[in-house]
Amino acid sequence: MNTRVGTIGNAAPLTANAHPMIDPFGRAVTYLRVSVTDRCDFRCTYCMAENMTFLPKKDLLTLEELDRLCSAFIAKGVKKIRLTGGEPLVRKNIMYLVRRLGEKVGSGLDELTLTTNGSQLSRHAEELYDCGVRRINISLDTLDPDKFRKITRWGDFAKVMEGIDAAQKAGIRIKLNAVALKGFNDAEMPDLLRFAHGRGMDLTVIETMPMGEIEEDRTDQYLPLSELRADLERRFTLVDIDYQTGGPARYVRVAETGGRLGFITPMTHNFCESCNRVRLTCTGTLYMCLGQNDAADLRAALRATEDNALLHAAIDEAITRKPKGHDFIIDRTHNRPAVARHMSVTGG
Ligand code: SAM
Ligand code: SF4
Repeated sequence: MNTRVGTIGNAAPLTANAHPMIDPFGRAVTYLRVSVTDRCDFRCTYCMAENMTFLPKKDLLTLEELDRLCSAFIAKGVKKIRLTGGEPLVRKNIMYLVRRLGEKVGSGLDELTLTTNGSQLSRHAEELYDCGVRRINISLDTLDPDKFRKITRWGDFAKVMEGIDAAQKAGIRIKLNAVALKGFNDAEMPDLLRFAHGRGMDLTVIETMPMGEIEEDRTDQYLPLSELRADLERRFTLVDIDYQTGGPARYVRVAETGGRLGFITPMTHNFCESCNRVRLTCTGTLYMCLGQNDAADLRAALRATEDNALLHAAIDEAITRKPKGHDFIIDRTHNRPAVARHMSVTGG
């Protein structure tokens, strides 16, 4: 089938699903995560070092180029796009890209969403809704403003609460993401759960992954979610449910609150068999797996010509290299992370 869905500038017509992306293990790639910037207004201790060296601004793809790349992926069968970072809402003029991508929701794209730390949300929430964003993920690891400052180094808890209020007022559904950190927020999880569910939000907890050099010792921070779950089961009734968001979380229903709780367990349970996603960085590098170093440079193909054929060929070639799964193992001999780049490069 060769259905025309539009053109970009003078570029060749895009075709819908002309060549759907099926990787060597038979998995269809339908989900693109785009890290629109590696910069952030926080410095979460598990994510970044305090003194980070960011990419020179000149290396970044323009928002128009990111739009063209995303459109190529939509033409190749991507149904869901998540903007992430770094902090996506600190990229200058980011709402231009949100609007352009939002226009494709319903014509090729099923969903446009983002993952944010919430710090800039109060001023963008209404416009996000207006652009077609209906669900977002907000990262929140604690409800204690002092602990929040400690874990984010630079974050202001009150601003994030304002962001949550504004997004809910605008009609955007929220899922909270919390990284489970041993000795930091494990005891607080019941409160986070009651807070999220009390406000109609799902909560997902995530195991820390060894990505990028940070100042802390990751082996000190790591908390297997099996432990957290066992602890929660002493206070709550957790009922396994089939709910799927297209992501790697396994969900339970919490009988006492009626809300949903998700577990993302990259370290203790390998969720790669159903992986449907690839990750694009703000410089046009495509990572076929969060937990592997292999990548494809799409910027060269993007800039070589306005004809999308080269770009589509580069994407096809990259998909043939999507690996079976990740391999997050901390190199304990050298105390080095398994993956040298920080999460903020590929956006989690
Ligand atoms: N700045 C945005 C935010 O914090 O939501 C988007 C980017 S952030 C890299 C995306 C998610 O990755 C956040 O939920 C964050 O908590 C999580 N994350 C960052 N570093 C991580 C790590 N080493 N292991 C597990 N999750 C991590
Ligand atoms: Fe920034 Fe998100 Fe990383 Fe925290 S987790 S430093 S908010 S990119």
